[in-house]
Amino acid sequence: MKENRRGTEAFLMQAAVVREPHGGIRFEEVIITPPRADEILVRNVATGICHTDINGLEGRLPSPLPIVLGHEGSGVVEAVGAEVHDVAPGDHVVMTYLTCGACRECTSGHESSCRSAGRLCFSGARPDGSHALQGHDGGVLNDRFFGQSSFAQYSITHRSNVVKVSKDLPLALLGPLGCGIMTGAGASWNILQVQPGMSFAVFGSGAVGLSALMAARIAGASTIIAIDRVPERLELARSLGATHVVDAGCEDLAEAVRAIAPDGVDRTIDTTGRLAVMGDAVRVLAQRGIAALVSHAEADGLTLSVKDMILSSKSICGVAEGGRSAASNINRILSHFAKGDFPFDRLIKTYPYKQIEAAIDDSLSGAVIKPIICWE
Ligand SMILES: [Zn+2]
Ligand SMILES: [Zn+2]
Repeated sequence: MKENRRGTEAFLMQAAVVREPHGGIRFEEVIITPPRADEILVRNVATGICHTDINGLEGRLPSPLPIVLGHEGSGVVEAVGAEVHDVAPGDHVVMTYLTCGACRECTSGHESSCRSAGRLCFSGARPDGSHALQGHDGGVLNDRFFGQSSFAQYSITHRSNVVKVSKDLPLALLGPLGCGIMTGAGASWNILQVQPGMSFAVFGSGAVGLSALMAARIAGASTIIAIDRVPERLELARSLGATHVVDAGCEDLAEAVRAIAPDGVDRTIDTTGRLAVMGDAVRVLAQRGIAALVSHAEADGLTLSVKDMILSSKSICGVAEGGRSAASNINRILSHFAKGDFPFDRLIKTYPYKQIEAAIDDSLSGAVIKPIICWE
């Protein structure tokens, strides 16, 4: 095991801590302990802000407080535990969601559907209840958020939770590939399986929606409809491949989409999490159409016409993290990024880490599609 002092001794670092719901996020000096045999110490370079983090800030997640959130981290491996042989210090990695590696889903290439992912990503601790982080005063600090808690200068993460990437890539921009960008792209490729000539509509043109849109264009969709309330996002959607755009503030969204695709839309994705919009995403489907749902911002309780579902042979799929495995999704996106046809960098704005609150505000207001905070 190659190591340096940081791999074997606890040390102090800056982390953004959430202590109470709606209580904001504050930087604190916290203690990070060395990696266990199956863990990795990552020096974070940058971390994207995703709406799931914001749900955590507002107390809408099952995770206990106080906690260090952050689940779109990218960085450099600083040290590895004795049982880690597939990554080494100096490697560039993207962190992603944590899975068990043993269930039927994990062992058949569908890690994103891991039966234990909810517990592993949101319990705030390792499965044995221990923590890699501690408060400066030794107080309990929950961590292990998506296995990474990367709103911090360093992360302790499990060996299965990182995807190694080329050192030629802009590492500071890659964190969101591990969640938001992969969720959208994977939904189009793996779950909706968009085919050449299909029509496609994205309800909500944020980071997930625009990633789904780029993936659908790459897959050969011919009619591509982007829907949002923010005119700048619709403009960006056009430049990324939308053939039509619809203002979500229009009187009848489903009717506006049907005016573009009179026979209905073959594949739709809702990224808004709003029940009324999800209903529209199903309503506008063509015969044998499929709608993907990736977000649940509101309470459950979608109302559907079962008759319409049956007579039109429609399907609805729930999608977590884009389906299949994080490595397959990230590598596929990066191969298209290299060719210039998946320019996810156009969705991103970077901030120094001390401006995390401004970055969160810009995400909430819609001013920025994908804020990333940089640790150096
Ligand atoms: Zn996320
Ligand atoms: Zn599993």
